[in-house]
Amino acid sequence: DLILFWHRRDLRISDNTGLAAARSHSSKVVGVFCLDPNILERDDIAPVRVTYMIGCLQALQKRYAEVGSQLLILHANPLQAIPALAAALKAKAVFWNWDVEPYSLIRDRTIIDALKEQGIQFLDQNWDQILHFPEEIRSGLNQPYTVYTPFWKNWISKPKANPVATLENAEGLTEAEAEIAKLNGAIALPTAKDLGFLWDRDLVIAPGEAAALEKLEEFTNSAIYEYKEQRDFPAVNGTSQLSAAFKFGAIGIRTVWQATLEALQNSRSDETQINIRTWQQEIAWRDFYQHAMYNFPELAEGAFRETLKNFPWQINEEYFQAWCEGKTGYPIVDAAMRQMNELGWMHNRCRMIVASFLTKDLLINPQLGEKYFMQKLIDGDLSANNGGWQWSASSGMDPKPLRIFNPASQAQKFDPEGEYIREWVSELRSMDTEYLVTGKIPASERDAVGYPHPIVDHNLQQRQFKGLYQQQRESI
Ligand code: FAD
Repeated sequence: DLILFWHRRDLRISDNTGLAAARSHSSKVVGVFCLDPNILERDDIAPVRVTYMIGCLQALQKRYAEVGSQLLILHANPLQAIPALAAALKAKAVFWNWDVEPYSLIRDRTIIDALKEQGIQFLDQNWDQILHFPEEIRSGLNQPYTVYTPFWKNWISKPKANPVATLENAEGLTEAEAEIAKLNGAIALPTAKDLGFLWDRDLVIAPGEAAALEKLEEFTNSAIYEYKEQRDFPAVNGTSQLSAAFKFGAIGIRTVWQATLEALQNSRSDETQINIRTWQQEIAWRDFYQHAMYNFPELAEGAFRETLKNFPWQINEEYFQAWCEGKTGYPIVDAAMRQMNELGWMHNRCRMIVASFLTKDLLINPQLGEKYFMQKLIDGDLSANNGGWQWSASSGMDPKPLRIFNPASQAQKFDPEGEYIREWVSELRSMDTEYLVTGKIPASERDAVGYPHPIVDHNLQQRQFKGLYQQQRESI
């Protein structure tokens, strides 16, 4: 019996729960990936992300061939294309892993109905990319959590699954069936350029399963042991850079968890254990935001907290452009934005700094920033990105009301030698460190190197934000 396995953000054959479940039902498991115009034609798609994804698909096709099967590629609306392909190939069942995003949940439920109508089974509801599925982590009153710390306590106390079996010894389509697949939309994998997305620079992480596993090994052999101490310094390579692999499931989350347990076993001191624990907490943040998106899909539409729902955000195209281009005149903010524009990746500390700056200093709606991040990031992910923006804008679930980052104190603390600023803001390369980290660069020096004057005054702006925030609180 043929089973179709529909890959979405699980672009690997190892430690893939749905795929392993499919293989346990039949040896004839054929993969399919659908390039969905509903997604690719949105205006928040980053060329770097599509490039990474296509690279992952290329690697995945190779892996399928190695184990005796195929990965088919469709470029069509999955609502019609998946049931049509399954019916044409007389598939017994279609399998996939659930995804928390509102679009995916609605799409998947519609497709299950279409499959049922054709007598094709949809078996097993598999969760794959998070360590616990949303219904598993609930408060004592059986409610979803809206605060991270109690979520974490519950989450970490639960046993975690081991990695599942890698697909092997599979059987692919016969030649005749491959012809039928072609007639029903199966195409050769296009390049990102074919799809209209141009990215000609190196990727922060090479695409595919093997590269992700290599990166995990490298990280869990070294930087994880100092993660808590090093992770906040953007000039240091102190984080895993696995985020794109997580986003597209080039790596299995259970495999990652197992690697952290092994690191814990290898570490002798309490200090290193704390470092590893801190990284595990980031993995839990990822689950937390995915659970949040599943339980509260309205998060995707805007502010979660009442106080920020009708906030009088300012419309200022000039400020927004300066922020996007890294030309605000605040060196740490500009370095961060230029890093993202160049690499498609930004250090977490800097994501928080620039998000605070856009919302609390420029008083611009966080949804604009959220979208710009999606247009640029290799790891752009609705749940994590929305969670990060809501956190920074004080509009999200977290009860602590106001986080206003002072760009100067952030730079002094986390880029004390100005290394990161020098790397990304080339015109400031030979300036005194003191100028760089305090942002107090004399006007003449700015003019001499062509670096912008500060577009706003941080102290004035944050006072204005606090005033508006107070008014909103009083009005509800
Ligand atoms: P590491 O420090 O090595 O962390 C390991 C993994 O844990 C990450 O790869 C990621 O999957 C997860 N993780 C870490 N921090 C967070 C977090 N705060 N929330 C959710 N998951 C986390 N992350 C994305 O993957 N996609 C996004 O679109 C995204 N947008 C963000 C926007 C803002 C405003 C902020 C403040 C944060 C955002 N993050 C996002 C979270 C975080 O910045 C990145 O996951 C991290 O910088 C990726 O680098 P890394 O893989 O080296 O992380």
